[in-house]
Amino acid sequence: MEKIYDVAILGAGPGGMTAAIYARRAGLEVIVIEKEKVGGALLATYEIANYTGFEKITGKELADRMFNHTKTLNTEYAYDEVKKVIVEGDVKVVECYKQTFKARTLILGFGASVRKLNLDNERKFVGRGISYCATCDGKLFEGKTVAIVGGGNTALEDCFFLSNLAKKVYLIHRREEFRGDAILSKQVKEKANIELVLNSAISKLIGDEQLKQIEVTNKVTGEIKPIDIDGLFVCIGRGPDTEMIDGDLKLSENGYIITDDCMRTNFDGVFAIGDIRNTPLRQIVTACSDGAIAATKAFEYIKIQKVKQK
Ligand code: NAP
Repeated sequence: MEKIYDVAILGAGPGGMTAAIYARRAGLEVIVIEKEKVGGALLATYEIANYTGFEKITGKELADRMFNHTKTLNTEYAYDEVKKVIVEGDVKVVECYKQTFKARTLILGFGASVRKLNLDNERKFVGRGISYCATCDGKLFEGKTVAIVGGGNTALEDCFFLSNLAKKVYLIHRREEFRGDAILSKQVKEKANIELVLNSAISKLIGDEQLKQIEVTNKVTGEIKPIDIDGLFVCIGRGPDTEMIDGDLKLSENGYIITDDCMRTNFDGVFAIGDIRNTPLRQIVTACSDGAIAATKAFEYIKIQKVKQK
């Protein structure tokens, strides 16, 4: 007979792994489905300094610790890419490229994927000068000149990280003020090899096989400035990954899944956690908290369903 899990957790980020810990400790049959590597957005963060109990830890180490924690509870993982998720009905279906899974409840923790600049040639230069992950690709630019675009915590953290590797870092932001935390912007402003290019947007990507230069337009003065670079890191935020969900899930106007305080979506037995959710704060600690709540509520939901079926 085909196995029906109690919970299918989609995405092994901090929220998904926390949900797995709570669900397994409640005695539920769990499958965690992950497209790539466990850790999610943690893997794109070099150093984490705001997760309670760890003054400093790398994203990779925290991801490994969370994963090992889930494994001590014999959590089952499937490494497969989700094609379609059917959220309706008592048994939910998760169609992946290699396998199909069925579960009584779903915890959606796909996170969000990187936003693009949508400039001509952007796609062509990916891996040829353009990167969306400083932690992954920063090392390639040791001793070189790079630019980073964005003004949030990711851009500020990545800028500082890159300034310790590269000879020179241009930080390009479309406004005067940074969106990211004051402590990070102070750090960036004080670093000698970081040059701020504010109120500015990248208007052109220039190069043949490899990105060589960017054209930057000052939005206040209209001045256009060419900057020679070896690499460009695009850190302008993320957008929710909901396109594989088959069903009329309630979304916010910018596409995030709307949940109540218990992480419940508008479909019975379907929960959403972490960055994919319409949440006021996207942090590791809040993703973990979402995961704990969702798993606890999934347990209660399953219990009620079982009583109803008797
Ligand atoms: P974010 O906070 O959404 O910031 C995106 C930045 O990119 C903003 O400064 C935005 O400018 C700019 N931007 C957006 N679209 C743009 C475009 N088309 N062209 C140029 N610039 C554009 O994204 P994030 O920095 O990736 O952070 C995501 C979430 O993770 C946040 O909640 C953040 O606090 C959290 N995070 C936390 C930490 C930490 O606490 N250590 C580390 C990393 C991330 P505007 O400001 O003008 O909108």
